[in-house]
Amino acid sequence: KVRVRFAPSPTGPLHIGGVRTALFNYLFAKQHKGDFILRIEDTDQNRYVDGAEKYIIDSLQWCGLSFDEGPGKDKGYGPYRQSERKHLYKEYAETLINNCHAYYAFDTAEELDAHRKDHEVKGKTFIYNWHNRLKLKNSLSLSKEETQRRIDSGEDYVIRFFTPQDQKLHLEDIIRGDIEIDTNILDDKVLYKSDGMPTYHLANIVDDHLMQITHVIRGEEWLPSLALHQLLYKAFNWETPEFAHLPLIMKPVGKGKLSKRDGEKLGFPVFPLNWNESKGYREAGFFPEAVVNFLALLGWNPGTEQEIFSLEELIANFSLDRVNKSGARFDPEKNKWYNHQYLQNKTNEELATLFAAELTKREIPVSFPDITYLEKVVALIKERADFVADFWELSDYFFEAPKVYDEKAVRKQWKEDTPSILTELKSVLKDIKDFSSENIETIVKQWITDKELSFGKVMPPLRLIIVGGMKGPHIFDILEMIGSKETIDRIENAIN
Ligand code: GLU
Repeated sequence: KVRVRFAPSPTGPLHIGGVRTALFNYLFAKQHKGDFILRIEDTDQNRYVDGAEKYIIDSLQWCGLSFDEGPGKDKGYGPYRQSERKHLYKEYAETLINNCHAYYAFDTAEELDAHRKDHEVKGKTFIYNWHNRLKLKNSLSLSKEETQRRIDSGEDYVIRFFTPQDQKLHLEDIIRGDIEIDTNILDDKVLYKSDGMPTYHLANIVDDHLMQITHVIRGEEWLPSLALHQLLYKAFNWETPEFAHLPLIMKPVGKGKLSKRDGEKLGFPVFPLNWNESKGYREAGFFPEAVVNFLALLGWNPGTEQEIFSLEELIANFSLDRVNKSGARFDPEKNKWYNHQYLQNKTNEELATLFAAELTKREIPVSFPDITYLEKVVALIKERADFVADFWELSDYFFEAPKVYDEKAVRKQWKEDTPSILTELKSVLKDIKDFSSENIETIVKQWITDKELSFGKVMPPLRLIIVGGMKGPHIFDILEMIGSKETIDRIENAIN
């Protein structure tokens, strides 16, 4: 059975790239009728940020990516926070010591720094591996007794992986194919520290094994760790899961990875929810389905022209084979486009409810006859909106007379004879009993023809005084909506 995990470290808010990783794991799991597991990798106490785990869980929930197992949802593989699994890791580190795949090292941070500097001076890079491990302070260079004495006396130590020398490793990645690596360039990474905490590498492999993870799907930034991880599986004599490293998400313009700063600079969210000062997708008014759809196509391509996918369709169509190797450029305009599309596909009823909530939230004191009025309004303006938050600016004239007229439009449309034309138009409109869009249109057009006026002399000024500018949908639809009395009032206001 397919079992995948999303394994964030609670070191801050979940970045949009993290959500994309979670999504691809989720889609892969659901497609294979497998399990999607959330594991919190909180072994690095120094980087732990309060509230980050809750933020991660709330974000996944907002996106509709529910996990099958995770904190609070134990299906027998828990606990799912590494800090609560602390007691497990030591024995695995010791196993590796016993079968000569790891060793104790006592070098202090200062000593290691000095070695690094020393190498730098000679134009070399210091790598803690076969090049120099026998010259350093560890259980390979010290006697057994001395090693034990140091441990017993409470000296700080770390357990390092013993990287094999002169081996060519063939790593396999579902997305990248075969990767060849020379073990001579690898560091003997620290696996365990005497403070009782494993490092990411050890905890990650032990947990993936114990949780019976079949596929590791994660960001490209973890590709450099793949060699060590595969060596660890071999050292433990465990079955290695399959790996897929997802392409980076790149800045909208220029080179490099999308960062929090890019979001701030260009005013678009890179986090699902608000985090301190940074605006999230939810608060910016994005629909979660639109965000998920957008993210799905950041790095994956369906092989067709189709762009709109429901979550069910994504599950059915997703495949790791169609995930690109190269970075996926983050395009905020496309992001907005998706929201626009999803907005168009909502019913007017849904949109009216959202609009009403938006008006309340923004404390805009408008009165309107009933919710069906809002439904009619959104039906007329939604085509121009990307967000529900755009509705008010696009439709204020449906609720109140314009407070100001667009100056440029006034200069262009308001002629000497405009007041007299509008006065006449007013009396024509006053006489219309059936104030429906179609009927008003027929009568007004007939009047224009009979009077031998030009449309340009009547329609633009009419729009200007009803709407406040040259924007908006079909003018007769607007008149029907605001009704006869309001129409007459607005004309009178303008000409007096
Ligand atoms: N804790 C790692 C992270 O924060 C997980 C990497 C992995 O999936 O192996 O991304």
